Amino acid sequence: MNKEFNRRNFIKIFGASAVGIGLAGGLNSTGAAESLNVEKVLPVLEKIVEDRQPVIWFQGAGCTGCSVSLLNTVHPDIAEVLTKIISLEAHQTVMASSGEQALGVFEEACEKKAGKFILIVEGAVPTAENGRYGFFGESPKGEQTILSWVKKLGNAAKAVVAVGTCAAFGGIPSAQPNIIGAKSVAEVLGKQVVNVPGCPPHPDWIVGTLAHVLLFGLPELDEEGRPKLFYGNTIHANCPRYFDFENKRYANNLGDDGCLVFLGCKGPIAHADCSQRRWNNSVNWCIGSNAPCIGCVQPEFPDDISPLYTKLPDEKIWINKSGVKK
Ligand code: SF4
Ligand code: SF4
Repeated sequence: MNKEFNRRNFIKIFGASAVGIGLAGGLNSTGAAESLNVEKVLPVLEKIVEDRQPVIWFQGAGCTGCSVSLLNTVHPDIAEVLTKIISLEAHQTVMASSGEQALGVFEEACEKKAGKFILIVEGAVPTAENGRYGFFGESPKGEQTILSWVKKLGNAAKAVVAVGTCAAFGGIPSAQPNIIGAKSVAEVLGKQVVNVPGCPPHPDWIVGTLAHVLLFGLPELDEEGRPKLFYGNTIHANCPRYFDFENKRYANNLGDDGCLVFLGCKGPIAHADCSQRRWNNSVNWCIGSNAPCIGCVQPEFPDDISPLYTKLPDEKIWINKSGVKK
């Protein structure tokens, strides 16, 4: 057995993500595995480690916040992800090469590694004027648009993961007036894409989804293309303030105790496990720090749930935990 991947190391390295992806073969309602069947997974994982899955990370119209969020991954940490689990072959912001050499890595993926690499796209895709609002490099034929890259790479990849709400649903770049015609990766490619939304997404959602794709193939997705294991329930359903909501104890001002629904909380429509997973190595999360959920994981974000600090329409709020209207 590969010395680096004995049982103990597996648990140490995959820790939270292993729990998140339900390696026992099933998830409970909180997204946690009942037990960890490491022996079942180790041989698969060893093969993955041996092969070092090539991953191409392409950045479109975004703020790089999703990449920064990934750097905060704790179990496994980012060094372990990059040196032991995947082979990150290209990423515009962090790759050492530049100019033609950097472009060559992306070109080579399309030409020589077709069907072998996983494509991760961060950021939306500008499509107006045939993509002229966003470029990445030039070729002898002229400037190369983000649109053309996403099409080329997306069609050559064996799986496509859209990381962040911009890539998954258009997000902030597609907010009105959207003169650049920003669209999601799935809209541009017209094929199955695994969406990992969030502004930014939690590092566990990114690493856990990637681990699931490597170990088991595509995870079960909801109707928005999101892995159910991370996005299966609403924030509202698992909110520690749900009891306040039920008992009509509402916060009137930021910082008050009570349910934040009248301060604009989008928890009733936002699907994610933030309340259980929490952020920054489980230190805290939005509602835990008295801030309403702004629904950053939703396709409606930002335009269709704005103003962000205004109460949702009643018909979107007064539903029970299973999503049935009261
Ligand atoms: S409305 Fe927001 S604060 Fe209130 S219970 Fe739902 S998620 Fe929690
Ligand atoms: S609580 Fe809401 S706004 Fe905060 S990260 Fe989770 S989904 Fe996004």
